[in-house]
Amino acid sequence: MNPIQSQFAVLLENVSCSFGLGIKTVKAVDNINLEIASGEFFSLLGPSGSGKTTCLRLIGGFERPSSGIISLFGTDASRMPPFLRELNTVFQDYALFPHMSVLENVGYALMVRGIAKSERDKRAHDMLEKVKLSGFAARRPAQLSGGQRQRVALARALVNRPRILLLDEPLGALDLKLREEMQIELKALQRELGITFIYVTHDQGEALSMSDRVAVFNHGKIEQMDAPKILYDSPKTEFVARFVGSANVLEGGLLGRSGLFALRPENIQVLSGQHKGLQGELIDIHFLGAQTRLEVRVGNERIAALQNGVSTLERGSSVTLDWQESSLRQLEARA
Ligand code: ATP
Repeated sequence: MNPIQSQFAVLLENVSCSFGLGIKTVKAVDNINLEIASGEFFSLLGPSGSGKTTCLRLIGGFERPSSGIISLFGTDASRMPPFLRELNTVFQDYALFPHMSVLENVGYALMVRGIAKSERDKRAHDMLEKVKLSGFAARRPAQLSGGQRQRVALARALVNRPRILLLDEPLGALDLKLREEMQIELKALQRELGITFIYVTHDQGEALSMSDRVAVFNHGKIEQMDAPKILYDSPKTEFVARFVGSANVLEGGLLGRSGLFALRPENIQVLSGQHKGLQGELIDIHFLGAQTRLEVRVGNERIAALQNGVSTLERGSSVTLDWQESSLRQLEARA
């Protein structure tokens, strides 16, 4: 292994993972390459069945690669069992022990390692303070809200100071407001502890708001891997353009040029009547609160535009779409 490779917390080289289902084989992860730096908040984003969880399980050692190499901190871990890897996992369903107090749940991993009660209680209390649950040490999991249980699961996974924390849709069971609060807290905690977080989600907003980098999965492959802003501003493929921020994907013919282009709804202005630009019919108006989403039919295409505030335009009226040339992003041609 060369010195550059050994700087990575995680390195996947040509990793595939297949499952046999009767006579059929499912390639859940298909020849993936990725590297995650130490201390990075890295998200695996994609629709259901795209291979994110399998990829996380491969890193955790819960699945074995069918081919390829997985290295952790410069050591080949392809065949290393989970308990020898310097990592922990937080699952969506928390998996807390119901008969133990919060303090005992958090200190459990330390007890298994034979650490004395006074020391493990101290470390468990410290970790509970970090996840803002200081006053809850004596309670049982059943006496907590969903968000509080999730924090206990987090404290329990962090108490033995893993170098990597794997998180599989950990906020999926929480309501939207709590999820947004927890996103901010998770990010702050990760920054404070400096631990590498690898986060699985199908929620693009969640991935964009917390991550240093995001890998977008589709059918077991990574379509694009970039910082959130680059992913949003410069999607490379039609799939990424649509999945991250729901961009319009336009055939060049409509614009009088060749190729395929992405255009974000918020970069389109909808003008009443006929002007210079793309002419269409306003077919739908959705009031979203701070913004209004307008659906415009242009030929056979349906194009979405987002406007701030309330729209004064009427459904069925003829409109013109306008945008800055710099908002158009050329995409890779369809296969
Ligand atoms: P979700 O968001 O729904 O959890 P995902 O992106 O995490 O989806 P995976 O769980 O990694 O996707 O699954 C990828 C593919 O592999 C799917 O087609 C799934 O049905 C299949 N798969 C996953 N685990 C197994 C298994 N143990 N046996 C057979 N097929 C599996």
